[in-house]
Amino acid sequence: MPIDATRPYDESNIFARILRGELPCSKVYEDEHVLAFNDIRPLAPTHVLVIPKGAYVSWDDFSARGSDEEIAAFVRAVGRIAREQGLVAPGYRLLANIGEAAGQEVPHLHVHIFAGRGLGPMLAG
Ligand code: AMP
Repeated sequence: MPIDATRPYDESNIFARILRGELPCSKVYEDEHVLAFNDIRPLAPTHVLVIPKGAYVSWDDFSARGSDEEIAAFVRAVGRIAREQGLVAPGYRLLANIGEAAGQEVPHLHVHIFAGRGLGPMLAG
């Protein structure tokens, strides 16, 4: 069920639980500010989720409240993960769903990295 991205941060969301170590994840990358792991229901051969460790509901929340250090770390981590996974030459897609119309389901900011096959048109339908 899509979430309202303007609501306050919910500490019980699934990615908050992964960050606290209460749930496992298939970790791809971690640093002081960022965690990345494989999506549990991959939609492409490579489907990685990159999340900030801070409590941010969405891109809207992060871009408004995140520190310059957190934002720089996040952007650099996304690029680094893609490079380390060998995705740059074949190409990859970044996607962030924000709120209801986009179908955001988990109320903790995440950027999807898709790769490993032709990814088709930018939007379905
Ligand atoms: P979104 O629709 O942009 O909010 O995407 C949420 C994504 O989180 C989906 O692609 C789910 O498959 C993924 N997801 C949900 N729970 C987990 C989990 N425990 N570990 C990894 N990925 C998950």
